[in-house]
Amino acid sequence: MSEETIVNCPGCGKAVIWNESSPYRPFCSKRCQLIDLGEWAAEEKRIPSSGDLSESEGWSEEQER
Ligand SMILES: [Zn+2]
Repeated sequence: MSEETIVNCPGCGKAVIWNESSPYRPFCSKRCQLIDLGEWAAEEKRIPSSGDLSESEGWSEEQER
């Protein structure tokens, strides 16, 4: 079986074989994925992740009681 889907990496435009076992698809590598996620995060930079984490922790604690 040689069924391969080729996609272009959104990060660098390189041709990437879409593999079900690839954790970084549709990116060619983890680096391109991180770069893309970083750009996305920079646009939505309004919620600090650390503050958000502790807040949801306290919330789940309250729910238990
Ligand atoms: Zn890439």
